[in-house]
Amino acid sequence: MRPISQQDILLALRETCAVQFFKEKQDTFVNIQCPVCDVDGNFIYFKYGFSHDKCQKCCTVWCNPRPTEASLVEYYATSESAKMWTSILVSTDTSRKQLQYQPRVDSLIATLKQDLSFIADKAVDLGAGSGAFALCLQNKDYFSEVIAIDFDEDCVNVCKQLQLKAMVGSVDQIEEGSANLITMNDMIEHLFDPKDFLERCYSSLANNGYISIACPNGEGFDFKLMGENTVNIVPPEHLNYFNPDSLSMLLVKAGFQIVAVETPGILDVEIVKREFKAGNLSLDNNMFLKTLMSHNDDAIRRQFQSFLQVTKQSSHMVVIAKKNL
Ligand SMILES: [Zn+2]
Repeated sequence: MRPISQQDILLALRETCAVQFFKEKQDTFVNIQCPVCDVDGNFIYFKYGFSHDKCQKCCTVWCNPRPTEASLVEYYATSESAKMWTSILVSTDTSRKQLQYQPRVDSLIATLKQDLSFIADKAVDLGAGSGAFALCLQNKDYFSEVIAIDFDEDCVNVCKQLQLKAMVGSVDQIEEGSANLITMNDMIEHLFDPKDFLERCYSSLANNGYISIACPNGEGFDFKLMGENTVNIVPPEHLNYFNPDSLSMLLVKAGFQIVAVETPGILDVEIVKREFKAGNLSLDNNMFLKTLMSHNDDAIRRQFQSFLQVTKQSSHMVVIAKKNL
């Protein structure tokens, strides 16, 4: 049997804290329409007690009704689950995370260099966590200034130890019209009001500035196969599950032009194989996938993962957009 890992403990703690929070706060929850289309959705499932809707127009999935912004702040500040997540985040080997982020940063900078109107002055990484992404940006020596911003003080202190310019807060810390690049990783799915947030990002960017958003793809392969059992469906921490089309629509509504949409995720097939082998996912109704996941040859599954990437069906996506007045 596989030994119990820190990840297993975190997953169990997340559920316990979420169920407890739901019981205590459900009477204060507020109803939310589709964060992209402002229309009502259809109920699809519960997770840890929290109800989730799906939009028939754009396929975004969102937690509804959901906790107020104030109670979410309280949850992040007090829940054992959030504390454990932050302690894992800040203790994770930054150089290993940099290796994961480096290809993304290289690809982003290659995109920016193709735009002769782009000025590589100030880059801001929001929800910077342990600072690995901001450090990758800084080490490229392309931007004059790289700033890491996170609402968690422990994360900001870790960023400062890495010699990053770092501050506590969110997009409000950026002076209007001053940033040339805003990046965020695994952050937008946490936000109470993502549209308002993107409008603030738009205001904070200089003309010809860019935004790069990496987040889960709610229409990705493992989401589709596992539904609410996907480890990424984790209320009240995650509230919004966009897809390549719906996040693009939201960015356009906030004023942006879409530059690139990709799903470079590499883990979908591994996650599904792991859940299938552990007996948590039945593929009896899908002989194609059952054969694929049972096959002895890993190379076939790697090819299938490449197919998911190319066809924008991986569960991890990146959207790059531009402010062009
Ligand atoms: Zn919608």
